[in-house]
Amino acid sequence: MDRNTGKYAAWSAVLLAAALLLGVGGGTAVQALAGSREAPTLVIDAGHGGFDGGAIGSDGTAEQDINLSIARRVQALAGFFGVRTAMTRADENALDYDPGRPIRENKVADIRARERIVGAADSPVFVSIHLNKFSDPQYHGAQVFYSPNHADSKTLAEALQACLAAGCDPANTRQAKQADRAIYLMDRLTCPAVIVECGFLSNPAEERLLNRTEYHKKLAACIVTGCLRYGSGG
Ligand SMILES: [Zn+2]
Repeated sequence: MDRNTGKYAAWSAVLLAAALLLGVGGGTAVQALAGSREAPTLVIDAGHGGFDGGAIGSDGTAEQDINLSIARRVQALAGFFGVRTAMTRADENALDYDPGRPIRENKVADIRARERIVGAADSPVFVSIHLNKFSDPQYHGAQVFYSPNHADSKTLAEALQACLAAGCDPANTRQAKQADRAIYLMDRLTCPAVIVECGFLSNPAEERLLNRTEYHKKLAACIVTGCLRYGSGG
């Protein structure tokens, strides 16, 4: 990418965020998720980390790094709009990792540590960020899955799904879906909780996008807009 293309790509991400946010309805939405003690805490979860790289793209890209890049941008942008946030992992490491333990025990410890962070947050709204991978490379597009334990999870998932389609991929006709109970956090958490699968590493075109930080900004703008729209009740 040359310097000019980079400059305008950055601007287009800002303009996209502004356009999406104008559609949210301005101050009302922001106030709903920000400010008072009762205001929710957006708990942002970058999936995987450390010993657990998640899905690997055909060029060797690890899901965990992209998840963290998107999550950090979600935190920064949400914070800019006054939303209280917490991160499960703030760096490349897994949580509660002990090199002396078998991988399976470390996976359980990691996921329980994430559960405890959500449990310690005031009025948590949990958004977990992941990437998809499938054997057939034709599938693409973000999809949001919601926990069955809180009615608002579905509302949040639908707001996120709509914003991701509108902002990142108008050809994406996927619908928000209930998460499988086999996914520990979706089964256990009782707060509004969703998993955002931001795209497919198994689709070559989407993998190229997912390797670009400009696309991480775009995804983050869509995710924050979806959260604000949910927070505004519309
Ligand atoms: Zn994942």
